[in-house]
Amino acid sequence: MLSIKNLHKSYPIGDSQLHVLKGINLEVEQGEMVAIMGSSGSGKSTLLNIIGILDEADSGTYTLDDVPIKDLNEKKAAVYRNKFLGFVFQSFNLINYKNALENVALPLYYQGMARKERLQHARFHLEKVGLLNWATHLPSELSGGQKQRVAIARALAAEPKLLLADEPTGALDSATSHEIMAFLQELNDEGKTLLIVTHEEEIAAMTKRVIRLKDGVIIEDKKIKQHRVKAHV
Ligand code: ADP
Ligand code: MG
Repeated sequence: MLSIKNLHKSYPIGDSQLHVLKGINLEVEQGEMVAIMGSSGSGKSTLLNIIGILDEADSGTYTLDDVPIKDLNEKKAAVYRNKFLGFVFQSFNLINYKNALENVALPLYYQGMARKERLQHARFHLEKVGLLNWATHLPSELSGGQKQRVAIARALAAEPKLLLADEPTGALDSATSHEIMAFLQELNDEGKTLLIVTHEEEIAAMTKRVIRLKDGVIIEDKKIKQHRVKAHV
């Protein structure tokens, strides 16, 4: 599903360069649930953004679903993002003046789907996260956990092959974090491939494979026995 070879990324700072990723090699198969760990500043978001085609590496290769991701113009990059990828962020990134249903439907609008059809799809995905009754509520009327579930429904609306989550539980209390992780585990049970950035060991233990970044390289990559959690929603 995803193959990365000898990937490097630096950021210019003043006259020098901050070398953030120093030769990353990574293969992820369809159906995996992977945690990317590392302390703050270790390059987790940088790696996830490159995988998400939101940013580009300086060197190395990245292949997603057999498509080489390189030198894409913004339009092509957007097409691949829409086709392959769903995103979930720590801060939810919902549109404040749109209700839950409209937020979920938004990526389908960008795909050019007709209004009736996209609202139907959005309803289906809101129901999957248990929030159909909250369809007409604004983000400000939702709890943190509910907002993240709307964000997950939005990420899933376009039926991406790969879901990328950057600290999806970072802004949530422990019980709510577990509910979100239980939901992500269910998604993975259904076959969705998930890449989850976290700096919490407890969250990483709920995935099936843990990759640790340190000083720009992968220092550990191991399959683990998944700690199962149950949702109480
Ligand atoms: P993490 O997500 O693991 O906390 P990041 O990937 O966000 O780490 O950042 C890795 C390093 O790169 C940090 O030192 C950060 O300050 C730096 N960095 C990230 N994005 C940029 C940018 N756009 N410009 C300059 N430096 C950046
Ligand atoms: Mg980060």
